[in-house]
Amino acid sequence: MTKSVLVIALSLMLLYLVATGCASDLNEQTGGEIAVITTTYPLTYFTERIGGNRVVVTQLVKPGVEAHDFEPAPSDIRAITNSYVFIYNHPAFESWALNAATASNSGSDSQTVIVQTINLETTGEDHGRQAVDDSNFDPHVWLNPVKAQEQAGRILSALIEVDPDGATIYVRNADALEVELRALDDLTSKKLSNCELGSVVVSHLAFGHMADRYDFDQIGLTGLSPEFERGPSQLVKVLEEIGELGIKHILQEPIVSDRLAETVAGETGAELLTLHPLEVRTSDEASKGVNYIDIMKSNGDAVSTALRCS
Ligand SMILES: [Zn+2]
Repeated sequence: MTKSVLVIALSLMLLYLVATGCASDLNEQTGGEIAVITTTYPLTYFTERIGGNRVVVTQLVKPGVEAHDFEPAPSDIRAITNSYVFIYNHPAFESWALNAATASNSGSDSQTVIVQTINLETTGEDHGRQAVDDSNFDPHVWLNPVKAQEQAGRILSALIEVDPDGATIYVRNADALEVELRALDDLTSKKLSNCELGSVVVSHLAFGHMADRYDFDQIGLTGLSPEFERGPSQLVKVLEEIGELGIKHILQEPIVSDRLAETVAGETGAELLTLHPLEVRTSDEASKGVNYIDIMKSNGDAVSTALRCS
């Protein structure tokens, strides 16, 4: 090869690299894997299970952070822009998500695939009968493993869309996840099938979908999001109900500091148990690798204790 031919070949290569810069930049950042941004932990878990080592998942709401309060920083918006896929639950949970996604796709060459994983219609029977939030729907669908499968299905479609070469692997992984979610659902149904009580007291009304699936009621100390506080008269009603129904446990959350639950437990002599809304894991759970299935099993045990199931 003469020197001039070599120069031409190198310039052509350079041109090619510039022209394909967008995709290769992303590939360089992630080592060739598909960069996915998720908001909350269940979405991370489902994406990692389905994507396996073809994806690199970054979760915006970090372990131990209250997910309802989260606001994205400019660096989070940039991370969404630089990703192939952005996965969130529903505007009822991440009110900022659609704006962030639109901002990240405007004026950018790479178009991020945006995945809303929940289609919220009201869920029929109102198990959050103490709900005083103006919204009568509940975004915490992942607490019902059957609904979680629908979220996983939307994540599967998105991964196939951006990476068709991985389709066979994604489908196989999604099938394996579905088998585990079904087993989890069966196990929880069995745990909660024969119980003395029909109601649990929870610190925030996050468990409507779980209650719906396994046929119990939740009485909330606060509303659909933890910062929603009840008035004193409603709280008095809850205290009365605890006495009347013979409730002996208050289910509190691991992340939100829960003075209210502690006070109510103190007033009524009820015992505190942990029921996890699974928005994000605690730092401890994340470092120990405690996963969605593990926490859902513990949740089944906690509700079983509170309802006095046999
Ligand atoms: Zn919540």
